[in-house]
Amino acid sequence: MTFTTRFAPSPTGPLHLGHAYSALLAHDMAKAAGGTFLLRIEDTDTSRARPEWEAQIYDDLAWLGLDWPRPVLRQSDHLGRYNEVLMTLADRGLVYPCSCRRSDIRAALSAPQEGVQALAVYPGTCRHRDMASRQPGDALRLNLATALASLENNANLGFEETGPEHCGHQSIDARLLLTTVGDAVLGRKEIETVSYVLAAVVDDAAQQITHVVRGADLFETTALQVLLQRLLSLPTPLYHHHRLIRDEAGKRLAKRDDARAISTYRSEGRSPQDIRALTGL
Ligand code: GLU
Repeated sequence: MTFTTRFAPSPTGPLHLGHAYSALLAHDMAKAAGGTFLLRIEDTDTSRARPEWEAQIYDDLAWLGLDWPRPVLRQSDHLGRYNEVLMTLADRGLVYPCSCRRSDIRAALSAPQEGVQALAVYPGTCRHRDMASRQPGDALRLNLATALASLENNANLGFEETGPEHCGHQSIDARLLLTTVGDAVLGRKEIETVSYVLAAVVDDAAQQITHVVRGADLFETTALQVLLQRLLSLPTPLYHHHRLIRDEAGKRLAKRDDARAISTYRSEGRSPQDIRALTGL
């Protein structure tokens, strides 16, 4: 299969140096392999995605010297498709409605729990509920334990990694998934809006992505996505988790780090070559 990769930003803030590194690396890898570099706009979070951030993404990437086939896939144009996939998981009893607010979850997690190790993931408050009890405003969560049990061969839960740090076959430890990822939100509380985690799995298959190039901070997301690929009988691409670009204090960059926004460097008169150098490329 032809090498096909994608850069898939969410238009919820300015692209920063970390995004530039990811996009440039994916683009360079595709070029070196004589393959294709796609841009995909992951705007399923309609409450946070903004057209001005999307416009800035196109502008910054073109300024960096990247090119990609048009039209670009925008996830907000395909919400019905993702929702259909989510409903197939629901029909199999693998998701449940959840009305917990962030503050409820925080409170449940900080409550002392005798004999139970401190939880870092959703504590399962709504896990007993079935789809018939879904109310407007409920999110839909994956029942991770049931999903894992439904797979015939957990041993098959792994992926090939080409990144510098973990190169080779990576098997996913199901027990670790339960304590690090837990019952992830797949359907957001806005009706028919799915989380990018599921939408990306659907699109990576539809766009025949062979290599996913992304930051090492998404390693757990990859584990969850590989599980979703198994549940949905979709192919698993190769993954290349790259090092993170950090600030002087060693913290990874966030969208709010305006100081390292590409647009800030541009307004200071830096060149695309400067950006490459700053990312270590
Ligand atoms: N849209 C997500 C983000 O910007 C996911 C990227 C990816 O799948 O690599 O963090």
